[in-house]
This record gives sequence, structure tokens and C-alpha cells, in this order.
Amino acid sequence: MHENIEVDVVVGGAGACGVMAALRASEDPDIVVAVLEKSMTEGCNAGVSSGSLAAGGTRFQEAAGIDDSAERHADDILAASGDERHRELVDALCGVAADYVHWVADDLGYPMDVGTDMARKGMSVPRLHADPARAGGGPLMGHLRRLLADRPNVAVLDEAPVTGLRVEDGTVVGVRARQGGHDLVVSADVTVLATDGFAGNRALMQEFCAELGDPFHGGVSTATGDAIGWLRPLGAELRNMGACLRHGQVTLHGTRVNPALPWLGAVLVNRDGERFVDEQANGYSGLAGVVQGQPGERAVMIWDDEAQQTAQHSEMMRESESAGALRRAPDITSLAAALRIDRSVLEASLQPLPGRRALVAPFHYAWLTHGVLTTQGGVAIDPHGRVLRTDGTSIEGLRAGGGVAVGLAGTQSGGYSSGNGLLSAFGMGWIIGNEISSGR
Ligand SMILES: Cc1cc2nc3c(=O)[nH]c(=O)nc-3n(C[C@H](O)[C@H](O)[C@H](O)COP(=O)(O)OP(=O)(O)OC[C@H]3O[C@@H](n4cnc5c(N)ncnc54)[C@H](O)[C@@H]3O)c2cc1C
Repeated sequence: MHENIEVDVVVGGAGACGVMAALRASEDPDIVVAVLEKSMTEGCNAGVSSGSLAAGGTRFQEAAGIDDSAERHADDILAASGDERHRELVDALCGVAADYVHWVADDLGYPMDVGTDMARKGMSVPRLHADPARAGGGPLMGHLRRLLADRPNVAVLDEAPVTGLRVEDGTVVGVRARQGGHDLVVSADVTVLATDGFAGNRALMQEFCAELGDPFHGGVSTATGDAIGWLRPLGAELRNMGACLRHGQVTLHGTRVNPALPWLGAVLVNRDGERFVDEQANGYSGLAGVVQGQPGERAVMIWDDEAQQTAQHSEMMRESESAGALRRAPDITSLAAALRIDRSVLEASLQPLPGRRALVAPFHYAWLTHGVLTTQGGVAIDPHGRVLRTDGTSIEGLRAGGGVAVGLAGTQSGGYSSGNGLLSAFGMGWIIGNEISSGR
């Protein structure tokens, strides 16, 4: 027994890329869209993310007196990744980022501002946008999913995982899926794959990212790289498969501390009290490998009230606080005792680096390790989200974006710039959806 469904567009995955693609495609009331989601209960990475949207040249930046542009954004990303091969893709995504940030804020009614308190490695000006309460990606995705479900020309099917692609003469003509014990056979003119990467798939992580060891996985369980399994047999090229969005500021409770802390004066030492890195030398993804190299794959981050004042304004700090991951010590003696580090060693490590301020007691601290949030390798796509085979041709009938596709970090996790993940996802969803609704 199976059910046949015929639509204009079928989207696999109701996360950042899939929801944006479906919202934009369905702006044309004559286009019928089906969105198939594996499990809204398990969630999507966008929903557990910080919801920080990188965009250059927005009205929010202008109002804050920040001079930025899509070009500068792209240059920053490429300077960090060194991945000139993907310049066109990066340009295309940065070129639409301000548009969808404005659309989400002004047309879809989700509050946004630019995070002048969100300093990040390699970001030459503040360009992360988030809701003023810094509530994270959950409320944002809830808002977008509700709007999508209300569209009369969209059907959102939950607990309906895509199980494979339907291919006729090399052209993708839809998908197969399962829902409530039934097989669904979906026919569509365009199939959009937005099912994210493979950080939740141990076999694929072993195959492509073995040097990460067995890191804590801070993303959702649905990211099992299903699309890799469907696209490999079709000859799709896989690129930058060893790169991930890693995080070097994961607490031992699985939460994260605010990535701005190093720019607010926070100091990192290892279990022996050694200050093993200039805290501002890496982004959080690059820092993960440095923390991995420390004894026990552990480090402790130490900061003070002045840093806490700014850093606490973040869902990451609120989650870490309620998990019990954030500690306090009134002075250096009690801090050394709590960390079991020799007081004089710790004191020496807390001396400010040239040009940095000295921390002032009382202290805040958190034990950290490294984790992987999402993968950044994926199928090759062109700037329109067309999936490319190893011979450079594209697969007819198919588009892909977000974590299914190659990310913007280049070949190494250290090349990841903050905001790249949702830029790839919302940006390509925007591009694909707009092209569908305008008949391209
Ligand atoms: C803790 C954390 C914090 C992050 N913070 C940020 C941030 O602040 N800024 C930023 O830019 N990036 C951030 N990221 C990265 C960002 O969340 C991801 O890059 C982005 O969500 C990828 O978008 P996507 O649409 O590809 O996947 P997702 O948002 O994960 O959506 C994919 C959807 O597909 C569904 N799915 C999977 N398989 C199937 C299937 N077979 N059939 C149907 N549906 C399926 C999933 O259930 C999911 O709903 C963060 C990630 C994590 C884990």
C-alpha cells in the first residue's frame, strides 16, 4: 500500500533551509509545496542553534553606524576559509543575507537587531543579527514553521522522513517517504534537499572526520546525513568532507559559554594551569582542536564581573547557568583551590597578554571541552543550489542547500566563521525558493 502525492515542489527537511525555501517558493499562490520532516520533536539544528544570522549591509547595522556590505562579509569568510574555489557561492549567499534578515524582521514580524556585543574571530565589523532577547534559534524556527503551516498552498508532513529519491533517466522526479507506517510516493517538478549534514551519524563521522576523535555531539540526532546516501550513487561530488562546525567552548554539561568571552578578557588554562593559547587567536571552531590537544581534552575558562556583565546576555550563558556549569570564586586563592592548580602557576597564567586588561576578582569560571555541532562538508552545489556531479554537470530536477551541501569553512574546521551555518541554510533556501516562485 502506498499513497501517491503530486506537487510542484517537494522539500525534504523543515529546518532553516527547507522552511526558507518553502516559504519563498509558496509566495506564488499557484505553486503547491509539500514539506516532509523527519521529526519536529527531535528538532532541527537551526532550532537548537543560537539563531545568530550573519549579514552584511543591513538597515540594523546602518542604524548602529556600522559600515558593512555583502562584499566585505564575503571577503571575511574567504579570508578565514582560504577556499577561493567557492567564491561564487559565498558571494551569492552573502549577496542575499541582508534581504532575508530584513524580510524576516519586517515582513514576517520576527524581532531582530545587530549584536554589537557579539565579537567573533575574523568578523571585521559586528554583523551577527539576533532577536533582542537573545533567545536562540528555537523561537525563530517556531515562528517560521507556524507561518509555513498556515500557507494554504503548503502541506507540512511531520514524522514523515524522506527515504530516497525517485529518479527517471537521470532526472530527480520526487521522493519516497514514510509516514504512519505508509509509503508515500511523491512526484514533483523540483525536489529540494534540506536534510542537513551527518554529525549524528557515527559511521559517516568515522569515514570523513575520524581525526576529531569521539567528540561530544552538540547538534540534533536527526542529522544523520541521509542525503549523502541518496546522492553518492547519483555521482554527486562530495567536497570538504573533513570540515565541521566544531566548538572549543563546550561545558562539561554539554552547554556552551558565550563565544564573545575571549574578546571580553577571558583567559583559558589547561588542567596544569598552563595558558596554552592566545584566546583571541582562533574562532570557537578552530579552538576545538587546540582544546582537544590539552591533557584530558579539558580546559578552564576564567573571566570576571566586567566580562560577565556583557556575556550573560545570551541563551548560551543562561543554559550554562541553569545546567550548573558556571562557577564563581571570590579570589585567586579559592580559585586555585577549586581548580586544583598551584596558586603561583595560576597567578602567572592570569597575567594579561600585551594590550589586554587584567581580570579583577571575583572570578567566574567554567570547565570546558570540545564538541562538534554540525558537519560542513557536503555535496557540491552551484550558486543556485544545483547539485553537481564529479564531471561538473548538474542533476536535473534537484536543488540542495544548508548542511546537505558543502559549507563555507573550506577544508578545515578552523576555517568556519561564525554565522556560516545559517547563512548557507537560510541563504540557499532564499535563493532556491525565489528562483522557483519566479519560474527560474
Ligand atoms: C548548538 C548549535 C548552535 C548553532 N548556532 C549557530 C548560529 O548561531 N549561527 C549559525 O549561522 N549557525 C549555527 N549553527 C549551525 C546551524 O544551526 C546549521 O548550520 C543549520 O541549522 C543547518 O541548516 P539546515 O536547514 O541544513 O539543517 P537543519 O536546520 O538541521 O534542518 C534539517 C531538517 O531536516 C530534517 N531531516 C533530516 N533527515 C531527514 C529526512 N530523511 N527526511 C526528512 N527530514 C529530514 C531534520 O529533522 C531537520 O528538521 C549551530 C548549530 C548548533 C548545533
